[in-house]
Amino acid sequence: MKIIDILNRKEMTLSFEVFPPKKETAYESVREATERIAALRPAFMSVTYGAGGGTSRYTIDIAKNIEDKYQVPLLVHLTCISSSKEAVRAQIAAMRAAGIRNVMALRGDIPDEMQGSDRSGWDYHYASELIRELKESGDDFCIGGACYPEVHPESPSQREDIRRLKEKVEAGADFLTTQMVFDNNLFFNFLYKLREAGVTVPVVPGIMPITNGNQVERAIRLSGSFMPQRFRSIVDRFGHDPEAMRQAGIAYAVDQIIDLYANGITNIHVYSMNKPEVAAGILDRLSGILGKDFSGM
Ligand code: FAD
Repeated sequence: MKIIDILNRKEMTLSFEVFPPKKETAYESVREATERIAALRPAFMSVTYGAGGGTSRYTIDIAKNIEDKYQVPLLVHLTCISSSKEAVRAQIAAMRAAGIRNVMALRGDIPDEMQGSDRSGWDYHYASELIRELKESGDDFCIGGACYPEVHPESPSQREDIRRLKEKVEAGADFLTTQMVFDNNLFFNFLYKLREAGVTVPVVPGIMPITNGNQVERAIRLSGSFMPQRFRSIVDRFGHDPEAMRQAGIAYAVDQIIDLYANGITNIHVYSMNKPEVAAGILDRLSGILGKDFSGM
């Protein structure tokens, strides 16, 4: 099933993101965790590709396993910045062979060793080039792109970032998923600006449940996202107590999700970080809401 068809349904849905193992020794534990999340039957799941220093080797394996065993629609990530054309084409061919229908097309972060090098020698510079290539592959992939309510860190301004985002959609992105946001108002302001700029595709907010005090600094460092004082107080008070922090982190994420649904957003993507108990905790608290059709309201 294509992700865009799920997003165009007028019902409240939730999707989960997982990441593949970094080392072969972790493969079994990651497979098991991702299967437990798939067994919860989210609207779809996404599997990252080499994010945060991780590997790209097992992305398709982990995705195929979930799709085959649980029939959960899958979105497979692909980055291009540190790859050759040949390597990207080989990965597209592997996705085709595995029957993958949905691709999140990303540039990826520029690795340290490429910083300052001559860009004219790079095969790819931006995600839009990968999106064009996917479109030209003739595979009829449904394509997602990333977007940044708090502006991509390399962009000189939000206006410029949105202009480039519009080009990415024009290149063929069917929908967009946001970087993690902890303050819904930032998402709503961004969505308003996108619509004003003529970006009309579905925009899925990304919510990261922080259930461990140590995650906070890393999440801010990787995403650059604003952490509201309300959330900082939770971490200050409960960060040292794992069970209390888990409950408080889930409650904060659920609060954000309900506010998004209440304001007309239908699909929300949860960065579930291979934690089945967190995914289950969120779904459990939304059982009276998910799947309901609120289009007539
Ligand atoms: P782009 O869309 O190419 O944008 C990058 C920058 O270039 C922006 O500042 C943009 O404004 C600018 N720009 C775009 N086009 C042009 C142009 N033509 N001329 C000048 N400037 C331009 N990383 C991973 O490694 N693996 C993953 O699986 C992964 N998944 C992610 C999922 C989501 C939902 C998000 C939000 C991010 C994810 N990332 C992942 C991180 C992502 O790769 C980085 O944020 C990266 O720095 C930018 O990727 P992009 O696809 O948004 O790039």
